[in-house]
Amino acid sequence: MQPYPVHVRIDLHTHSHASDGTDAPAELMAAAARAGLDVVALTDHDTTRGWDEATAAVPTTGVALVRGLELSCRWGPMSVHLLSYLHDPHEPALRAETDAIREARLSRARHMVDLIAADHPLTWDDVLAQTEPGTTVGRPHVADALVAKGVVADRSAAFTSILSARSPYYVPHHAPDVLRAVGLVRAAGGVPVLAHPGALTRGRILPDDVVRELAAAGLAGIEVDHRDHDAEQRARLGALAAELGLLVTGASDYHGEGKPNLLGEGTTSREALAAIEDAGAIEVVRPWRA
Ligand code: AMP
Ligand code: FE
Ligand code: FE
Ligand code: ZN
Repeated sequence: MQPYPVHVRIDLHTHSHASDGTDAPAELMAAAARAGLDVVALTDHDTTRGWDEATAAVPTTGVALVRGLELSCRWGPMSVHLLSYLHDPHEPALRAETDAIREARLSRARHMVDLIAADHPLTWDDVLAQTEPGTTVGRPHVADALVAKGVVADRSAAFTSILSARSPYYVPHHAPDVLRAVGLVRAAGGVPVLAHPGALTRGRILPDDVVRELAAAGLAGIEVDHRDHDAEQRARLGALAAELGLLVTGASDYHGEGKPNLLGEGTTSREALAAIEDAGAIEVVRPWRA
């Protein structure tokens, strides 16, 4: 493992149009270079589809790439997101689970469109027109279709109305229990980090005792520096990470045009990244040589 320079800028959570971001993976890498980042993690929802294109952009952009994904999970009825870094993309059990989640997301999106279509001018073809082939389909793509149809102004307006989790059109989808997911990620050689676990805007938050249970099962870290965390949550999660010996990470959760989040608005220390790379099955793709 090569050491990182002292002032290295690291953003460990971003999305491309392989899921619900709006940039192609190569565009995201170029945007990361413009934002002054040295290292970026591509963590599309439930897919590694963007990895190859992003990897190919490393030499031209000069930005190092951490290959990852953001796994859709549940704790009871609550939705939980788990980042996986540097896992073997061919390991069969994790692959089967991500395939199953993407499949379930597709039927769930079709179901939501059926419900919405009873009251608004929206068809499944409108949603398909907003997605790249093979993308992990999510509510943001339905939102883009509603925007294109003039039903709502933008993604955020869709999420506070028609697509809200409290809306009559909302349908949940299959996702693995987060405790099992930590095991799946570790078994694939990945480094599991809880994404935005203190995001009050997303409903209830994961109790401390559940985080303790996840840590005992192999959780490696907690994303603390994230725009959805207020000062109180940052303090709580920082203390919890210290208590449990977990890594602390930070990131933008950039989605391109789809969200206001800006690349580099949250960052991770080089020590935390070095620990992640030590624990992962595959290497960080670097533009520089030893
Ligand atoms: P889903 O995974 O299909 O349930 O949709 C949730 C995803 O939508 C999250 O991963 C976010 O990336 C995205 N999202 C949530 N709220 C908003 C918002 N207000 N504007 C844009 N995207 C959002
Ligand atoms: Fe997303
Ligand atoms: Fe997330
Ligand atoms: Zn995310």
